[in-house]
Amino acid sequence: MFSATLIRSKPVVANAIRFNHVKVALVTGSTTGMGRAMAFRFAKEGYNVAITGLGAKEDIDSELKELRDLGVKAEFVSANLMKSDECKALINDTLSHFGRIDVVVNNAGMQHVSPIEDFADEKWDNVIALNLSSCFHTTKAVLPAMRKQNFGRIINIASLHGLVASVNKSAYVAAKHGLLGLTKAVALETAQENITCNAICPGWVYTPLVAEQIAARAKAKGVSFDEEKVRLVSEKHPSGRFVEVEDLASMTLFLASDSAKEIRGASY
Ligand code: NAD
Repeated sequence: MFSATLIRSKPVVANAIRFNHVKVALVTGSTTGMGRAMAFRFAKEGYNVAITGLGAKEDIDSELKELRDLGVKAEFVSANLMKSDECKALINDTLSHFGRIDVVVNNAGMQHVSPIEDFADEKWDNVIALNLSSCFHTTKAVLPAMRKQNFGRIINIASLHGLVASVNKSAYVAAKHGLLGLTKAVALETAQENITCNAICPGWVYTPLVAEQIAARAKAKGVSFDEEKVRLVSEKHPSGRFVEVEDLASMTLFLASDSAKEIRGASY
């Protein structure tokens, strides 16, 4: 028991020695999908982690337990990121829990698929609020703390749809293109500081967000889920394979690292 605890604590000690304190990563949308994988990767590297997102209390409690079992401090901070005041509260509450925030991964997102003429106004507002505006509000709220501690990494999870468009995804495409613009603007405003802002633009990653779209397409076409899954990924990825959440977690960890200190305003 004693030695197991020591082994689990090792990354925390390594992180503390490297930086003289344990770094703190806040990952939005970390109750499922990519964000969850990123939170676990940061914890495995010895970061203390703040998780946030929607989900059942028992699932969130069990995620927190698993994270704490890795030997780090982990807290859940509740926020509806479609609301600007809750984005600000998320940063303030995380600072109250941990005393600092070194890394913010703006990962929470949603999709809505519809031709423009039928696209509900409310859906447009929600997609823009969550996928774009929330990233502005968290960035605005966290920058003073990052400046004070002279370190910060802001990583925006955009999408391939930040670079190219697809039919019936107007709000998502607009939000993700906007997020790449925001990333460059933040990178310029922090260019002379030890704070960076970059974006990741994944192709298809198999997560609940994508499973929902596959199910809807399969239903519309009257084909099986598995058949549509292969068709969907093959349309956009010549490899015919999904990107894995673990690969994205590795990229995020790299952008948060000291080695990435002069990578600024980039989109991967
Ligand atoms: P997901 O649906 O598994 O996770 C989305 C997360 O956002 C969840 O934790 C959810 O609880 C949270 N969330 C949703 N609404 C919220 C709200 N109002 N307030 C706070 N949190 C909220 O999705 P994912 O596939 O893991 O996507 C993560 C990010 O990656 C998104 O920004 C998405 O646009 C982007 N992305 C995904 C893919 C893909 O193929 N899955 C590809 C490119 C980009």
